[in-house]
Amino acid sequence: MEFMQIGIYPGSFDPLTYGHLDIINRGKKVCDLLIIAVAKNSEKNCLFSVNERINIIQDCCDDEGIEITTFDGLLADYCMERNVSFILRGIRSVSDFEYENPIAVVNRKLAPEVETLFLMADAGAAFVSSRIVREIASYGGDLSSLVPPRVAEKIQRRFS
Ligand code: ADP
Repeated sequence: MEFMQIGIYPGSFDPLTYGHLDIINRGKKVCDLLIIAVAKNSEKNCLFSVNERINIIQDCCDDEGIEITTFDGLLADYCMERNVSFILRGIRSVSDFEYENPIAVVNRKLAPEVETLFLMADAGAAFVSSRIVREIASYGGDLSSLVPPRVAEKIQRRFS
């Protein structure tokens, strides 16, 4: 069997933003399969349920080269179970780096075969976060520069 390079992009994705989409599109280029994995433990204080977030991601991504799923428990265990070669994460700022660095180190201890790969945020999306989207949405603000139109519609319906 031919060796397949599998990457995983884990996160809360509550909701998916243009920043996530940028990482997905660039991440797809460096693997044969990119698993987009919505963390199940991120249900607390969320805007959308895990299933709703998966549906939103499905709506906004074309199927080729990606799998959209959810995972529970330790990411390192899930990576080994799925034969993942690398974990993909995005870095927007020094605070993202400080948050991600110890996690990457621990994940390498737990799963030495799995590398964490960081992509620097696109200049145009570096200010975009799901938290900012939720905040602006809660005041009825314009989301058009932050999320795709169909995501904005779903968010607006949730707040109306
Ligand atoms: P988590 O709760 O795991 O941080 P998020 O859904 O907030 O999940 O983010 C998932 C990943 O996507 C993280 O690596 C985060 O840094 C990255 N990310 C989020 N927004 C952006 C963005 N605008 N540009 C680049 N990377 C981003």
